[in-house]
Amino acid sequence: MFNELKQYAKDHHIPIIYDDGLLFLKQLITSHNVKDVLEIGTAIGYSALQMASFGCHVDTFERDPNLVEIAKENIKNYGYENQIKVIEHDALHPYHDLGMYDLIFIDAAKAQYQKFFEIYQAYLKPNGMIVCDNLSFHHLKKEDVNRHTKQLLGKIERFKQFLVQHEDFITEFDDIGDGMSVSKRRNR
Ligand code: SAM
Repeated sequence: MFNELKQYAKDHHIPIIYDDGLLFLKQLITSHNVKDVLEIGTAIGYSALQMASFGCHVDTFERDPNLVEIAKENIKNYGYENQIKVIEHDALHPYHDLGMYDLIFIDAAKAQYQKFFEIYQAYLKPNGMIVCDNLSFHHLKKEDVNRHTKQLLGKIERFKQFLVQHEDFITEFDDIGDGMSVSKRRNR
């Protein structure tokens, strides 16, 4: 479903969720009876539309106004306006008109994942989960990349350590999509 959007993303070099990552997300959504999703990183609305087609209500942040326009158009064309709310906002700055969510999907600027995690965990229902994508970063190796990418790889590594050491969350890492994590609150 939504193959035209996948092609559009490919033609315009817009990164979207991988097919196997999407399947993984779908399984999580079904098995945990997820209804309400908060997504950080809409792009053209592909993953939001997919999650809406699985029956979820999705609030999704996008900071790029051009992408917001494209995403809203796509959502309208597919008739999912009642299920998806695109929020034009830089998610690094707290935004208070939110609900509580079964699933928070972080798929935005990789260097900021820890900040997103820290800001939005307050909006997670008690049994909810936080899923992050792109933690493998195309399996790039430090020795093969430029300085900027090296710094980004370092940040991703530190974010993974932050998750591993988190007192309140337990995290599972999966070599699916571009490297995904699923964090759930620890039972105390
Ligand atoms: N989730 C989308 C999908 O799979 O169809 C792909 C999202 S794309 C990988 C990441 C998007 O996050 C980009 O469109 C980018 O503009 C947006 N983004 C990055 N940092 C952001 C921020 N601080 N606040 C809101 N959006 C952000």
